[in-house]
Amino acid sequence: MTIQNTAGKKKWYSWYFDCNLLYRILIGLVAGIIVGLVFKEKILWISPFGDLFVRLLKMIMMPIILSTLIVGASSVSPANLGKVGIRVIVFYLLTSAVAVIIGLLMGTIFHPSAELTGFADAVGREAKAPTPAQTLLAMIPTSVAQVIVNETILAVIFFALIFGIGVSYLRVSSDERLKKAGDTLYVFFDGIAEVMMLIIKGIMQYAPFGVLALVAVVFATNGPKVMGALAVVTAACFTGYTLHILVVYCGMVKFYGRLSIRRYFRDAKDAFITAFVTRSSNGTLPVTMEAADNLGVPKDIYSFSLPLGATINMDGTAIYQGVCAIFIALSTWGYNFSLTQMGTIVITATLASIGTAGVPGAGAIMLLLVLDSVGLPVTAGSVVAGAYALILGIDALLDMGRTALNVTGDLSCTTIVAKKLNQIDLSKWK
Ligand code: ASP
Repeated sequence: MTIQNTAGKKKWYSWYFDCNLLYRILIGLVAGIIVGLVFKEKILWISPFGDLFVRLLKMIMMPIILSTLIVGASSVSPANLGKVGIRVIVFYLLTSAVAVIIGLLMGTIFHPSAELTGFADAVGREAKAPTPAQTLLAMIPTSVAQVIVNETILAVIFFALIFGIGVSYLRVSSDERLKKAGDTLYVFFDGIAEVMMLIIKGIMQYAPFGVLALVAVVFATNGPKVMGALAVVTAACFTGYTLHILVVYCGMVKFYGRLSIRRYFRDAKDAFITAFVTRSSNGTLPVTMEAADNLGVPKDIYSFSLPLGATINMDGTAIYQGVCAIFIALSTWGYNFSLTQMGTIVITATLASIGTAGVPGAGAIMLLLVLDSVGLPVTAGSVVAGAYALILGIDALLDMGRTALNVTGDLSCTTIVAKKLNQIDLSKWK
């Protein structure tokens, strides 16, 4: 974005918008660390600037979940839900669930904790864990309006998904009136989702300042020990990403699909690398499609499953959410989740991946929702907000790895489904 005045001259602040957001947030993180360490308590007046950022993020959370999930679910046409569709979706959801479990495992093993203090309150510290049956039952709302107002995440996700599926059925109805109603609803929620994306883009222009303020407060009150914790978060995420590739993708290709791993990665690596540098599953889509084509997957399978995967299948994001949720719990509560809470994270993060757009940084927004579901809401002035800001500061790095994994996951599932349906062109594997 370049800001110019009517005479075509750049405004004095246009350098800010010209500079890559990634670098700006990183600069915000580094500046926050320095300011916090140098000025200590004297800088605490800065905290409302961080709270402003948190409030802006919270503001868009509910509308974004509702609109993106409804659009995501209603984009799968019932006709495509045949043999291929069901298999692809089941694969996508199962691999995402395994990915969250790997993330939680990595978080538990690496134990990243910044032991944060100095915030007004650690919300949810005393929250009593519900039983698994209560968690599952609570997913089904008795009042839709109430769950939206109370921000009861799992129930909102559940409602959005069935609503979206309902819309997808209307859209293919033979009754003109119903079809029109379905299309109108689709366009309506798609419009809301697009507006939300625009608003996020706007809010993210403020992110460098928000991160600076939040991180400065964290370092002013906690000192330099926090840096080590961030290094451990990064190590835990990347170990999780690597494990998922080795165990899930290689295992699926070799043992379930009975295909050569080496041959698979010869083509998959282009999509992997492109995703790593662009941090966008959607942006990588043309490269992923070409890879699928080179791997002998028929076009009618990959042209459905890959765009769907770029929207609803996010294994890397799921791992990242597992690790970060544990980091935030350990840094704020001082102890890890109960098994029931971990179960809730698996369900929320798997479902949240459906609503995560394949664009840079989207996973960090969805992390808000996962945190909310286990009693760690990011609220202004809370210790959770400080921990979240730390994660946001290194998000670009974590996003590179998770996007590469998201894309590889789409390609692996697509290849396996084609192989299992005997539709893959094996002459391309010689
Ligand atoms: N950047 C990721 C993707 O495009 C989404 C995320 O932020 O997790 O797949």
